[in-house]
Amino acid sequence: MSFSVSMKADAMDKLLSVREAQEQIIGHFAPLSSIEIPLLDALGRVLAEQIIAPLDSPSFSNSGMDGFAVNSADVSSASSTTPITLKLVGDIPAGSSPVKNIEVGQAARIMTGAPLPPGADAVVPVEYTDAYLPEMNRSVQKLSDVVRIYRPVKPGEYVRHQGQDFRKGEKIFEPGRKLSPQDIGLLASLGYTKTKVHKQPKVALFSSGDELRLPGQALEYGQIYDANRFLLYGLLIQSGAQILSVETLPDDPFIIEQSLDRAIQSHPDFILTSAGVSVGAYDFVKQVIQTHGHLDLWRVNMRPGKPLAFGSYRGIPVIGLPGNPVSSFVGFLVFVLPILRKLQNLQPFLRTILLATLQEEVSSDGRESYLRARLDQTNPAEPKVFLEGHQGSANLYALTRANALLILPSGVKSLPAGAKVEVWPLDNMIR
Ligand code: AMP
Ligand code: MG
Repeated sequence: MSFSVSMKADAMDKLLSVREAQEQIIGHFAPLSSIEIPLLDALGRVLAEQIIAPLDSPSFSNSGMDGFAVNSADVSSASSTTPITLKLVGDIPAGSSPVKNIEVGQAARIMTGAPLPPGADAVVPVEYTDAYLPEMNRSVQKLSDVVRIYRPVKPGEYVRHQGQDFRKGEKIFEPGRKLSPQDIGLLASLGYTKTKVHKQPKVALFSSGDELRLPGQALEYGQIYDANRFLLYGLLIQSGAQILSVETLPDDPFIIEQSLDRAIQSHPDFILTSAGVSVGAYDFVKQVIQTHGHLDLWRVNMRPGKPLAFGSYRGIPVIGLPGNPVSSFVGFLVFVLPILRKLQNLQPFLRTILLATLQEEVSSDGRESYLRARLDQTNPAEPKVFLEGHQGSANLYALTRANALLILPSGVKSLPAGAKVEVWPLDNMIR
């Protein structure tokens, strides 16, 4: 006990850099194991296997158009005034398998995606033949004995050759890829029914404070709506987490303990709280966690979000973000997102840093500052950035208007207009 008290005193005294705090927190987590899930459920999940193409794609040469499979040499002199007439020897809808060889002077009607018959080396689109009815924009339905071709085609034209996209045995995806709808479509085209992905990080989410009410409830003077519950819920979902429980805690140690105990029954990978862990007289979340675990209150050299709590409750890691919504948001991006990425075996840190030119003088207090900003990339060669809205850490509206965070490094109290600064664009912050 005396050990954890002195640890705490240390952490309280020392001002940790953002990097130190990140490393300490991330060091407590290891990538989750993998499971096989149905392909349809795989969107946004992180691949835990290498995908090697089991087939060529396409797996057979096929027609890229509705038209006629021909020998290109037969139609090289075709024009609208001197059409070439070919004898039709077959009709190949998509899904059929042609066997008949196309000889010189012959053709077969063919639909998009149908296999190219042996002997043919090109396809003449129906629009270039007398089988097309331009005024109705459709083909003649009945197959006749001959077709008149009005334009030449080059060898291979309108043919999708076997293996054009990739060959059997090629590496398609590496592990660690976050699956997009396109990726899942490709896996389906290769015949996969399931895919091996990392388990989703499971999180128990808590807001805390007697002043908090849920939207839909009446507000009395002094009360506010619980914004963090919704803000953090969205951030967690966007970063691939599964939320096991969401609760708003009153400032009552008995209820807090009951709620935490209920939440850990479903075995979260960590507990995420906001507020209630500062030095206030009613910050009971901290007290309860310290009764059944430990919680260090760190002073991180950043703005907003200096108070950050990290510890564990009955063996489950706890991250305590500050109560002010903008501080919570920044704290999530800087400390929680890297945990979620590591658990899913994604690169631990992803901040897409861009250098932009300040359009006004900006000042802070010397802490590493994440200011709400507007990034203007009208001229991509020279991105510009200026502050957006009121910088108070409770002001969510300014955050919604910002499209970037402007980062002033620690030790820098002000920068003049024209200086180059680091900017963290928010549109693709979670990838
Ligand atoms: P605390 O950390 O409890 O001292 O809270 C700091 C500030 O954040 C106070 O003004 C709280 O009212 C506010 N706050 C705490 N939790 C929330 C929340 N879930 N939604 C909106 N504001 C909050
Ligand atoms: Mg509070």
